[in-house]
Amino acid sequence: MFWQQSYVGDALLNDLLSEAASSAEDSVDPDSLHGCGLIVQWATGDPACHWIHQKVFDVISTPQAWPADLDIDAVVAGRARLSPEQALWLYDHASMHDLGRWSTAMANRMLDECGIPNVSSNIRSYVIDRNINYTNVCSANCTFCAFKRDLGDHDAYTLSTQQLHKKIQELVDIGGTQILLQGGMHPELPIDFYEDMLRGIKARFPQVHIHGFSPPEVVEFVAVFDLEGFPKTNPGKGHTLPADVWHAKLRVILKRLQAAGLDSLPGGGGEIFAPHVRKRIGLGKATGDQWLAVMTAAHELGMFTSATMMFGHIEGVMDRIDHMHRIRQAQDHAIASKLPGRYVSFIAWPFQRENTPLGKLPEWDLSQDIPFPGDELALGRPADMAGRRLRSSGATDYLRTQAISRLFLDNIHSIGSSWVTMGPKIGQLALFYGATDMGSVMMEENVVSAAGTTYCLSEPVICRLIRNAGFTPAQRDNRYHIIRIQDGADSPDLKIQDWSTQRVKKLHQQSGESQAADEPVRGIELNVLNANPSATDVP
Ligand code: SF4
Repeated sequence: MFWQQSYVGDALLNDLLSEAASSAEDSVDPDSLHGCGLIVQWATGDPACHWIHQKVFDVISTPQAWPADLDIDAVVAGRARLSPEQALWLYDHASMHDLGRWSTAMANRMLDECGIPNVSSNIRSYVIDRNINYTNVCSANCTFCAFKRDLGDHDAYTLSTQQLHKKIQELVDIGGTQILLQGGMHPELPIDFYEDMLRGIKARFPQVHIHGFSPPEVVEFVAVFDLEGFPKTNPGKGHTLPADVWHAKLRVILKRLQAAGLDSLPGGGGEIFAPHVRKRIGLGKATGDQWLAVMTAAHELGMFTSATMMFGHIEGVMDRIDHMHRIRQAQDHAIASKLPGRYVSFIAWPFQRENTPLGKLPEWDLSQDIPFPGDELALGRPADMAGRRLRSSGATDYLRTQAISRLFLDNIHSIGSSWVTMGPKIGQLALFYGATDMGSVMMEENVVSAAGTTYCLSEPVICRLIRNAGFTPAQRDNRYHIIRIQDGADSPDLKIQDWSTQRVKKLHQQSGESQAADEPVRGIELNVLNANPSATDVP
């Protein structure tokens, strides 16, 4: 419904529906309706659908002709690149069906051509890792965050070595290969704390890959670490250092952390790079330029990194594309400069609004049939209400955005499905909108679940979602190399006899209390292709 509204306007659509109720003309050739997209799909089966097709086609066909310079087949085949303007046009006008088939075709081609042993277009991957938030103390005040605590708050914590190692041992016990280690931007912990933490993990768990410290944390390290030969500043004031000093201190810190055991950097804290959005939602943390600078410094040191985007709040669609564009440019630079590290993945998820200051903003009234202020601002036009209304994302917006990301980010290997926020069904459907990776088996999640419901899935359930979508599941490592293709009778999902033991866990924290509720695995069933009927035959 979201796309229909942005396409022809809610008021107009309602008028059409009322008129359709008293009209039953059936004279339009559906083949002439290419481009009507979701409206066509939605209306099919309705007695008045052809009438609606014609009306909608009349409205949209003239002003939204296919751009003369857009050769989508060449984009999918890797012979052309989407420009930001073309990407915006596709977001606004392409049908769900077309976005799905184009992004899937491009994803399949990229897998077939990637050169990674055992990776091909029939594979969809996942990793077994664990999110570990070593502290919830944070000097920033992001308006979308319900996780952070101030120093001295009764529920502020920093994990002890014993707690940390216990969590990692639990991961190793289920065959896990990496940890995602993130704070909080703690204003007082010295660099020795982090080096000791990394060395301690590597000493006890040398096989575990440490994917740790998102760019905003690293930017805070540059501000507050007391390093010989460098000035320090107050929390959140790293930008007051001269640029050359800031970069030099950044490189020293990353080198020391890498020497202590840090293997790669996660892309957390990306949100939306555009300053007019970021200054409203990411108070006191890294700018978009700083985020990108940290990643480039990591690439120079041979570390591989991921990139993220959190959308569906106050931003315009062009802000999302600008965000992707800056990542694509940074990856172009890494490739052209032959840097030893690169971005390997991109994952985007919709903002979860509960328990957050940002979530208290009123929802934008789509029935007004006027442009969303965030869209206007993103296109450089004045917008009175910019930043004061939310435009939340649903499944359709999520899938459209993800499909665009696959088509646009032609130099990044993996697009991740965000089932953690969207749930297993939409997460599975995302495999038909450009996603090639199901992310991690989720043992715990603290940050996003503090702002809304998130999901935890076991390895058998993830494998089953992938297999039922018609692909072969494969466990991967942090670099997307295949650890194991799950195609035998001993695959995690195929050896499950009693699916009632495999629950989809919903996490939702309120007021600092963690609440978990299980759903039966039957609730995740979405047997898109019925590729493995026996796997669906469960209680
Ligand atoms: S999102 Fe991260 S950086 Fe922002 S306040 Fe929360 S914990 Fe701190």
